Amino acid sequence: MDLSLFPRIQLGHFPTPLEPMANLTAVLGGPRLWVKRDDCTGLSSGGNKTRKLEYLMAEAIAARADVVITQGATQSNHARQTAAAAAKLGMKCHILLEDRTGSTDPDYTDNGNVLLNRLHGATVERRAGGTNMQQEMEQLAERLKADGARPYVIPGGGSNPVGALGYVSAAAELVSQAATLGLRIDHLVHATGSAGTQAGLVAGLHGLNSDIKLLGIGTRAPKEKQETMVYDLACRTAEHLRMRAPVARESVVANCDYVGAGYGIPTPGMQEAVELLARTEGLLLDPVYSGKGMAGLIDLIRKGHFKTTDNVVFLHTGGSVALFGYAEAFGLKGPQG
Ligand SMILES: *Cc1c(COP(=O)(O)O)cnc(C)c1O
Repeated sequence: MDLSLFPRIQLGHFPTPLEPMANLTAVLGGPRLWVKRDDCTGLSSGGNKTRKLEYLMAEAIAARADVVITQGATQSNHARQTAAAAAKLGMKCHILLEDRTGSTDPDYTDNGNVLLNRLHGATVERRAGGTNMQQEMEQLAERLKADGARPYVIPGGGSNPVGALGYVSAAAELVSQAATLGLRIDHLVHATGSAGTQAGLVAGLHGLNSDIKLLGIGTRAPKEKQETMVYDLACRTAEHLRMRAPVARESVVANCDYVGAGYGIPTPGMQEAVELLARTEGLLLDPVYSGKGMAGLIDLIRKGHFKTTDNVVFLHTGGSVALFGYAEAFGLKGPQG
């Protein structure tokens, strides 16, 4: 596994910190909980898409692109980090936002990530829920090409074998940090959506021969579909890296019991997790991904899934900017809040 073969451009602050969560550990009565702070990647308030964009934007530059196109849900953190990366690299950015929740709350439709997209100078267009967003991006690319532009299309979540390299690299970063601390990591838990984060970690941990048990907590699809998506992308990422040994299907595990009514729809567990982390650790999770990921971790701890002596690392993938689109979910909307 040789990541130096792939072009990469620096956009974030790495390595991100690996910190103990002593208060949360005490409140839950173990296991020993740690947090890998990928909410602190530095680019436009941070998040997991920055690692992927370091590889994707390097490809865009190599292709001499002058505009990047991407898509996501209305409160997409990926869209916001892509807009920031394009701004830093002097490229235009064109974002297509899909209405996946049906919320008409003006905070949801225009505050949070949407506000920051505009602040970074991106062009924002909306599409109805259920639209074929990949096809919309390709049509937009054709239109821009006809006008003489050189577009580069980044898939939703930056999840393809190039973007996933960011999390192959993160796996190596985490393993080396743990070695420096003399820490044996038993489990690594994080929120999984468009699959690039988990696929990169699966391929990376495989390439490193690590025995850390990886668990994705689903935020969108049912288990079967989520695991298939992750496994498929992990295999394609391993191929891109020219790894010899195949990725084992058993190394892909997703628990999709915490999605609730659907993508981006608040759940009581998410609300509890966001409030608990804010009040015990001073950490900001998000309502769509890390809040549901942490809700899953908390529930599994309560059900005795881990040994109290296990070291469990929660990969904090960022997203707190979306909180400003969800004040209502926390009962904090209006003067009574
Ligand atoms: C995109 C995102 C995820 C999910 O990562 P994928 O690579 O899409 O699976 C998790 N947390 C946050 C905050 C995100 O923005």
